[in-house]
Amino acid sequence: MAGPQSERDDRDQGRPLTGGCLCGAVRYEADGEPYHSGYCHCVTCRRASGAPVVAWFSVKLAAFRLLQGETRTFESSEHGRRRFCVGCGTQLFFDDDDFPDEIDITNASLDEPERVPPGFHLYDKSRIAWVRFGDGLRHFHEKRT
Ligand SMILES: [Zn+2]
Ligand SMILES: [Zn+2]
Repeated sequence: MAGPQSERDDRDQGRPLTGGCLCGAVRYEADGEPYHSGYCHCVTCRRASGAPVVAWFSVKLAAFRLLQGETRTFESSEHGRRRFCVGCGTQLFFDDDDFPDEIDITNASLDEPERVPPGFHLYDKSRIAWVRFGDGLRHFHEKRT
């Protein structure tokens, strides 16, 4: 069936995902298929963003390009590093030593976040009680299983 949704998806084929930070200093792009798009309710993501929940997706590192701007890195765990714009503090990227060939990007830093809808929820055990979605997506207690 060819509805508006599938027409939009056809147009997106081959067009890179682009995004950046609040002040505009950092810009990035990524081609290839985004994957593992989901909400994270963990305490670290919340504190790092000051937001009740953060949506992330992954792309292969080889498909990612930092076009301009400078990021500051914060080691938020033994295996993970978060990167923020040095100018405005927008949380943009997550690098995980356990997955050295990929990079995680915050969905909401995309120019067109509608192109990468989240498909699940992580760390439901840490979810703030007043954060309720009712979106029918699967909630994982911690990581994806
Ligand atoms: Zn910035
Ligand atoms: Zn998290």
